Amino acid sequence: MSNENTVLARYPDYEVCIGMEVHVQLATKSKIFCSCSNVAVAQANSTICPICSGYPGVLPVLNAQVVEFAVMAALATNSHINLYNEFSRKHYFYPDLPKGYQVTQGELPICENGFVSIKTDSGEDKKIRLFRIHMEEDAGKNIHDAAQGRSLVDLNRAGTPLIEIVSYPDLSSAGEVRSYLKSLRNTVMYLGICSGNMEDGAFRADTNISVRKKGAAELGVKCELKNINSFKFIADAIEYEVERQIELIEAGGRVTQQTRLWDTKEHKTYSMRSKEGAADYRYFTDPDLPPVCLTQEYIDAVAAKMPELPDVLFARLISEYGLSEYEAEILVSDKSVADYYQQAHAHHKSKLLINWVMRDVLGFCKESKIAIENIALKPVMLAELIALIESGKINSKIAQDVFKDSIKSGESPRDYIARNNLEQLDDEAEIEKIVIELLAKNAQQVAAYRAGQVKLFGFFTGQMMIVTKGRGNPQKIQQLLKKHLDS
Ligand SMILES: [Zn+2]
Repeated sequence: MSNENTVLARYPDYEVCIGMEVHVQLATKSKIFCSCSNVAVAQANSTICPICSGYPGVLPVLNAQVVEFAVMAALATNSHINLYNEFSRKHYFYPDLPKGYQVTQGELPICENGFVSIKTDSGEDKKIRLFRIHMEEDAGKNIHDAAQGRSLVDLNRAGTPLIEIVSYPDLSSAGEVRSYLKSLRNTVMYLGICSGNMEDGAFRADTNISVRKKGAAELGVKCELKNINSFKFIADAIEYEVERQIELIEAGGRVTQQTRLWDTKEHKTYSMRSKEGAADYRYFTDPDLPPVCLTQEYIDAVAAKMPELPDVLFARLISEYGLSEYEAEILVSDKSVADYYQQAHAHHKSKLLINWVMRDVLGFCKESKIAIENIALKPVMLAELIALIESGKINSKIAQDVFKDSIKSGESPRDYIARNNLEQLDDEAEIEKIVIELLAKNAQQVAAYRAGQVKLFGFFTGQMMIVTKGRGNPQKIQQLLKKHLDS
């Protein structure tokens, strides 16, 4: 699948080591150290106060919900939680960081040494070790207005709570990175701690890539790819960067540690700056924030109210609902889809349900680009439609028509069927009457059929569906046609 595989096919004695730093914007009501709203608004500098704007002399107060969300992330990634952890200042100058430092966690982060399970390109399970997860604040945003020749600063985002999830360089292909990011994003969305929206930057990843000769004890020099906000771009950038590094080394050059950006138009990475070492930031413990002291009772209480996680739901969809692994995986990959299925199932338990969700509902969502939670056909209505099919009230052809209408109009399938008089024609005597009339009208075709042109059976069933306006019970039509044609 990937170009990078072909690079490695050309240089089979190389291997790739990729570590990820993922920033997860926490969906708290207020910001991390003040009571300003944490909901994005269009009006620049409208959700700010002296604390998040970095005025001197103000005192930050930690938002308890940030700690709770970080603990949830720790529990969901099998991490060790440091009951005693603290905030540090990381110094650097940016126009959108008026304080001149970012409040983050240094040597004592809230959690360390977790892992995330992923599938490798060949479908095997692999554990990606997490170095740490820490809490921190986001910076504001610089807006470069080239037309006016000026730059503007919007501090609405300053003080937005983040957790940064840092992995070890255990990932070895673009495919593994994709699988890792999907799993992590799904987890934070199931936890309800992040919107997962990559376009808005609520879930964004920095990628550290190095290459080395297989068997080498030391890692190669890494390059960092900054803030790429789609799975596709990340995969493309990794492939490009792996090739660039190997070819540089093969040509006798050396990879230098630097931060690179991905140019989505030119399809290549370019150098932004040489990478700072940790020493450049002059980390020290923030004197304005007391250490975070947690108790095991607190952790247990958070654990008790954690929502169900994707891998638990996956197992339950198979054991409790009887779905296949493939079906369960599709549902789990989007929490809203899993919710939709389970809600419909609660109203009407049916084997047909999964097919209708996967084929018809998801087909409609994809085609119309509407998220499943926003479609007019609510789960209870799909359940109603399937109950109507199974009770024989409508046949599957009519069901398709009803579905196509209800998913746009939001009218209940039962009402739609009653209003349009679509209930299945089930009465044998009535169907038989129509069969007899039809055969009388088409004596020529009947004779041809009886003379051996059995393909004409399709003609008769088609005519029956036309005459009954699609309402005739297909099984009964077949039986009765056979009875009269073959007699
Ligand atoms: Zn504020």
